[in-house]
Amino acid sequence: MIRQSPLLVRNTRWRAGLWLGCLSAVALLLLWRGDLFAQFRLRLSDLYFAPASNPGSVVIVAIDDASLEAYGRVLTEWPRALYAELLNQVSTARVVGFDLLFDVPKSGDETLAAAIRQARAGEARTRAIMPIVGVERVLGSSRMARFQDAMRPNPILAAAADYLGSVNTFQDIDGVIRRQPAFVQVGDEETLSFSLAIYLAYLRIPAAAIHQVVYPAGDMLNVTPQRQLYLDEGGLWQQNFFMTPATVSFRDVLSGQVDPAVFADRIVLVGLMNASGFIDQYPVPTDTGGNLMAGVEIHAHAIESLIQNQLPRPVNPTFWIIGLSIFASLLYVYARWYLLIPLSLLLVAALALTAFYIFHQRQEMIDLFYTGLALITPLVLHSGRKLSLEIDRRRRSEFLLQSVVEISNQRLVLERILPRIAADIRRVLSSPAGAIWLIDDESSRPRLAHQWPESAAYVPMLESICRRSRAEGRAVISYPCVAVPVHWQGRLLAVLTAQIPLRWHPPRAALYLLQSLADQLAPSLENAILYTEVARQKATLETILDTSPTGIALLGSDLRPIRCNAAYEAALSDSAILSEKFQAGAAFREEVQIGKRSYNLEAAPLAGFQQWVVILNDVTTLSELNRFKTQMIRMASHDLRNPLARILGYADLVQQINGDSLPEQSRRFLGSIQTAAEQMNEIIGGILDLELVRAGGVRHEPLDLREVVREAIRHQQTDMERRQQIFEAEIPDSPACVLGNYRQLAQVATNLLGNAVKYTPDAGHIHLRLYQQDDALVRLEIEDTGYGISEEAQKQLFTEFYRVRTPATADIPGSGLGLSLVKSVVDSHNGRVWVSSQEGVGSTFFVELPLLKDENDA
Ligand code: ADP
Repeated sequence: MIRQSPLLVRNTRWRAGLWLGCLSAVALLLLWRGDLFAQFRLRLSDLYFAPASNPGSVVIVAIDDASLEAYGRVLTEWPRALYAELLNQVSTARVVGFDLLFDVPKSGDETLAAAIRQARAGEARTRAIMPIVGVERVLGSSRMARFQDAMRPNPILAAAADYLGSVNTFQDIDGVIRRQPAFVQVGDEETLSFSLAIYLAYLRIPAAAIHQVVYPAGDMLNVTPQRQLYLDEGGLWQQNFFMTPATVSFRDVLSGQVDPAVFADRIVLVGLMNASGFIDQYPVPTDTGGNLMAGVEIHAHAIESLIQNQLPRPVNPTFWIIGLSIFASLLYVYARWYLLIPLSLLLVAALALTAFYIFHQRQEMIDLFYTGLALITPLVLHSGRKLSLEIDRRRRSEFLLQSVVEISNQRLVLERILPRIAADIRRVLSSPAGAIWLIDDESSRPRLAHQWPESAAYVPMLESICRRSRAEGRAVISYPCVAVPVHWQGRLLAVLTAQIPLRWHPPRAALYLLQSLADQLAPSLENAILYTEVARQKATLETILDTSPTGIALLGSDLRPIRCNAAYEAALSDSAILSEKFQAGAAFREEVQIGKRSYNLEAAPLAGFQQWVVILNDVTTLSELNRFKTQMIRMASHDLRNPLARILGYADLVQQINGDSLPEQSRRFLGSIQTAAEQMNEIIGGILDLELVRAGGVRHEPLDLREVVREAIRHQQTDMERRQQIFEAEIPDSPACVLGNYRQLAQVATNLLGNAVKYTPDAGHIHLRLYQQDDALVRLEIEDTGYGISEEAQKQLFTEFYRVRTPATADIPGSGLGLSLVKSVVDSHNGRVWVSSQEGVGSTFFVELPLLKDENDA
């Protein structure tokens, strides 16, 4: 299983969210500036214009097919009197606007002009608006639409009218009319638009006062204190659309079929509508069925928009694009993948609802296209990101899996594993140089285990970053190097270091990948390190075994060596000769003769394995030495003792015969000879005794230790009295029986008591106790108030020829054999001897022997 590095799950989500949100915002702002999708954006904005009921401020008198049938299909040929008659019929109207050209002078012009003037003077004080039509639009940067020239009402009519207004329509790039100019410029002259002119006439603002009422204020045009038009860079304002305004046929009006009350205090627009064969028809936002709207009707809606103050205000989308992009992006980054689409749909719906609500409350138009994109673009970006992360994760898993498989294929051989790891690092980081450091278990120092290339130039730099990573226990980047630690079960095993190409910033992902690799390979590396260590120890052990002069072997149940060293092989190629001994199945020690050499063989069974460990020591030299020693002792006992006996005998003889006649000096010399010879005799006696004990084979019989002790006391009595030592003995009344050799045990008691006497100054105290320790043991204690023995000396006290050298005891004669004899005897009796002593205070020697309870035991 691929384990996930803790580094990899580090929380960077909100950063990704913010980052992608900003990216989306920038992209959308650029798109908005270029407005590549204007058509689509405009169509979307048309959704706002669900036709609302018409407030009815305007009545259209339509020059429709019926009127054309009645008065002639060629409109320019209509007599002016018809219009004069119309004015009479609508005399209660507040404004009458003609969306018809009256440029060519005609005979009836005066009549119409008179009718206009009459209407103005009438009770309703009707205002009349005549159209002008701009000709040849001049494209430029001006905020106002400009025309080379215009077709105007002929001077008679123009003079009669209250206002002239431009009836030009202005289409968006998709051909749809949504906006109106406030003014157009014809030549050098600024002219009101038809709709605005009618609205001002409706408000009864005289032509001369227009510029006092209507003036620009920032981006807006102040029309009245209550009406502001938000002009775009083309000088257009967004009009609104309602349901079809009240419309009556021109013919019906003239024929008196329409109730004049319909026109009372209304705005009456006269123009072509529902007239087949005329081209004054345009697409508008509310046209969903492909029906075109007549120019006069569009003006009617624009005027209504002004009167009702229903002036849609496009909102600058910058804030919305940035805000929504970042908001949506942050939301998506934390959402689960299956929630992304429903979430974005929900957001879009919420946006649309909000936008519509705001539009209908405050007439503010939020650009649905770009704000919608601000919710959807991050979705696309995040999906892409999630996809790329997933691909990346899979690639990483595949890489790690492959690495781990490759590494496990190297059969735990460190020398093969390290180059593989190096190859992986090179692959991940494109690293030209690097090194793998193993951390020493005891000193925890890094040791260079593998490097690439061969050159050592990089090593110091890599070593310093390795130390940093080891100290901080985490991955470290320090250009141009990176270091990644390999931990296993809380222990730092190794540090991977690598140089990275200077021009190249390693993506964090690469570093994470390396850290994951380090985490994955940690167990394999640990095993390889252990394996290498075990192999090394095994090799050392084998070397030690093979160079050891002692033969060592592990034998199988057939007594053939499973494993043995050279010394064993050289000495004993066929252990089967020993089969008899092995039959018993217990550990044994045996001296064996193989050829001319003697061996000390020790064999022990391996519990539960049916195998034997055999150790073979060549004791040929020792045996020879032993023989030599035996000869020496024999010589000492016989060859030295006899001459010594003669020396002593003759010295005695000389003393007896000539003792008194010898001069004083000669007598002293003779005394010295005697003392020296006795001392020598004592030493030889000691060696012989020791030899005798060690050789074993003396008879052990039941005896009463009280007898032994009493004999020893008798021996020392004279010396104690001579030295005025105070002696006390506690000997039990009942027998203290042991199984032993009477002579040897007597030597033990005599030696110990003798030492107490020797090493206790005159008039000192000596205390002997013999008592039963428990059911099984009897103990002899000899305590003195002598010189005592230092702790250092106590350790060697029982070795042969050892004598404590202190100024106080320097002159006391002795051989240093007494205590080693005591120990040998006590050991051969399965007993124990020890001392407790303090320098200058005194010593107590203890001997413990197994008690013989019943004499029949023997
Ligand atoms: P030695 O013949 O010198 O007495 P031992 O083997 O009997 O040899 O004793 C070894 C040494 O132990 C002695 O030289 C002496 O210094 C020390 N020693 C033995 N017994 C006593 C004792 N009771 N008090 C002090 N020192 C002792």
